[in-house]
Amino acid sequence: MPEVVSNRLDREFYQYQKEFEEKALEVLRSGWYVLGKEVQAFETEFASYTGSRYCAGVASGLDALWIAFRVLGIGEGDEVIVQSNTYIASVMGITINGATPVFVEPDEYFNIDVSKIEEKITDRTKAVLVVHLYGQASNMEPVRKLCRKYRLRLVEDCAQSHGAKDGGKMTGAFGDIGCFSFYPSKNLGAFGDAGAIVTDDEKIAEDVKVFRNYGSEKRYYNKVVGTNSRLDELQAGLLRVKLSHMEEITAEKRAIAENYTKGITNPCILLPKVREGADSVWHQYVVRCKERDRLAEYLKERQIGTIIHYPIPPHLSEAYRHLGFQKGDFPIAEAYADEVLSLPIYNGITKEEQDYVIKALNEFS
Ligand SMILES: *Cc1c(COP(=O)(O)O)cnc(C)c1O
Repeated sequence: MPEVVSNRLDREFYQYQKEFEEKALEVLRSGWYVLGKEVQAFETEFASYTGSRYCAGVASGLDALWIAFRVLGIGEGDEVIVQSNTYIASVMGITINGATPVFVEPDEYFNIDVSKIEEKITDRTKAVLVVHLYGQASNMEPVRKLCRKYRLRLVEDCAQSHGAKDGGKMTGAFGDIGCFSFYPSKNLGAFGDAGAIVTDDEKIAEDVKVFRNYGSEKRYYNKVVGTNSRLDELQAGLLRVKLSHMEEITAEKRAIAENYTKGITNPCILLPKVREGADSVWHQYVVRCKERDRLAEYLKERQIGTIIHYPIPPHLSEAYRHLGFQKGDFPIAEAYADEVLSLPIYNGITKEEQDYVIKALNEFS
């Protein structure tokens, strides 16, 4: 059996190789490389895909997040509610602007526990950042109600949830702003760094477009101190190719997840649950195991790569030591950090490889 690595990105490239190569050459020969017609076309197509009115491409998912809070005017002295088991970039999107993250524990689906949000709202709370973690849509209706009731902004971190729906509606379209990453390993991945925001608010979309380009609407007339977070033509063009295959890409991930869910029967291994009414695009297939480290080591000996998403919850990260949290403050997130393990799930993983992973897991004791 060949090695099954945790993520092989070249497999998806080869699935659509000809289209990628043609598009890359087209852009290279065009003589226009940053913010041009490919970016514009991608923005139109991605807005339509997510069911939002507007899209603005930026340079990464982290940029999408912090620029979102920046244009909403959320910063110093403000609090933003976010789940305690997220990837640290979600939290950095808040703190780069000087705002304070207020953590809420996750539910059994690894998403924010909506029943625990209201108790964390103070007069400093300005927004809720919902992260659709591992590809599964969060429970949005109760969050929307709370945001309306307390007049809070709702921002979605959709870096892992391209195409995932809650109640039939796509993630990114629920809040004031949906933030996407197109980092290569994401479900819609570029061949380098890229990101975008989607919104129904024309002013927000315009503000982001101004901010990403040094704060200028018209060349050399700078309205605000912005940043350089432009999306380039090559990435946008290649993303358009992938976006046109998104249905197959998502269907393939769902089939892999289904195979794992059906095949893994070892009682030591807890399988991921999907909430009723929600769906998952399976950015990750995350199992839990009391003996996670031993399981990872066991799989490694059998040439099966796994990743831990994430071993240290943000509140215990060295980067956030100044926030003053301690071990025990968010026990659910901490338990997840000790127990979660992401199995290999990527487009192009063969059935034989999947079944090899399943067999190894079922033989673990
Ligand atoms: C990947 C990711 C980000 C950051 O995206 P980059 O493009 O790497 O900056 C933010 N939030 C979550 C949940 C992510 O998985």
